[in-house]
Amino acid sequence: MSHPQPAVPGSASGEIELKPISRVAPEKPLRDVMDGAHRMEIKCLDHGFVALVDAMPRLVPEGQTADAAIVQAARVSYGQGTKQVSEDRGLIRYLLRHRHTTPFEMVEFKFHIAMPIFIARQWIRHRTANVNEYSARYSIVPDRFYTPSMEAIRKQSTGNRQGGEETFTIDGSDPDQSATAAAFLDYLHDAEAQYQKYLSLTQRGVSRELARMGLPVNVYTEWYWKCDLHNILRFLSLRMDTHAQLEIREFAQAMFRLLEPIVPVTMEAWRDYELESIHLSKGEIDAIRAHQHGVAPELSTQNKREAAEWAAKRALLNLQPPA
Ligand SMILES: Cc1cc2nc3c(=O)[nH]c(=O)nc-3n(C[C@H](O)[C@H](O)[C@H](O)COP(=O)(O)OP(=O)(O)OC[C@H]3O[C@@H](n4cnc5c(N)ncnc54)[C@H](O)[C@@H]3O)c2cc1C
Repeated sequence: MSHPQPAVPGSASGEIELKPISRVAPEKPLRDVMDGAHRMEIKCLDHGFVALVDAMPRLVPEGQTADAAIVQAARVSYGQGTKQVSEDRGLIRYLLRHRHTTPFEMVEFKFHIAMPIFIARQWIRHRTANVNEYSARYSIVPDRFYTPSMEAIRKQSTGNRQGGEETFTIDGSDPDQSATAAAFLDYLHDAEAQYQKYLSLTQRGVSRELARMGLPVNVYTEWYWKCDLHNILRFLSLRMDTHAQLEIREFAQAMFRLLEPIVPVTMEAWRDYELESIHLSKGEIDAIRAHQHGVAPELSTQNKREAAEWAAKRALLNLQPPA
């Protein structure tokens, strides 16, 4: 049975006639922002890596960087108004300072990453990325486990419940500490020994989706991770920060190093206005003002953590602590 065609405005036949595609050649020759590389990789931890596998824009006019896509998008929104901040670098720095974020979303990067599962759990919290992960239901988990070197085993922090800080003394001067560090590595090796059981149980017919349950969280997983630059900067702010776990910081720093030559103007601005900047609360500004009038720069707070944060900022600003 034939159905009547829905009426399409402007078309007697019901079909829309599209005009031909017009192709516009670039004004200048184009260059690949990855300089022709198939992937650009930095190794992390013992078996991990961050590899940049693609970028948008991939091609930019010769003499430019991928920062050009941010400027291009911003100029649409500002139009003639950009004449006031006519220079591209100035415009990008202005956008970043004023949190005009959407132009930064016009640039995207795709990474291939291998990291231990406990790091992947932290990473996946960054929800704005597109992720496709290795399936341990479909395939056997490779035999790769993260083991920190003995010198790098950290003690529980006393000031921060969520962190580790100084490492164990393993030079023999404190036998207790050496023994504890060695016991920690034994504990990891015991967990890894489960891998042979995992393999043999899958060979005896246990499904991979169940057999994996006994594997420890220091086993490596892999994913493709695609994200826009605005949200990558947010990821880097949180994960390059000293409050983030050391292991994920290594991955974040590797990502920063890969992107720095591709979007150098943005990364320089982000370094200036975010990474190496500090935010001041009203109370902190009041304390600085008081200090200028000869009063000790004291923050009025009962909160220990806020007081410690102020002490760190005060040291950075070279303000004398209260007597
Ligand atoms: C040092 C550190 C310690 C942490 N400790 C813990 C912990 O103990 N427990 C824990 O659970 N998490 C913890 N986290 C994770 C943290 O709470 C965030 O989940 C993570 O940092 C991602 O931040 P985000 O949500 O801003 O990022 P993204 O998910 O990338 O989101 C970016 C922004 O987009 C918006 N957004 C995205 N998705 C949504 C949504 N569905 N609904 C509304 N808004 C959305 C929000 O404005 C968000 O800020 C920790 C993170 C760090 C850096």
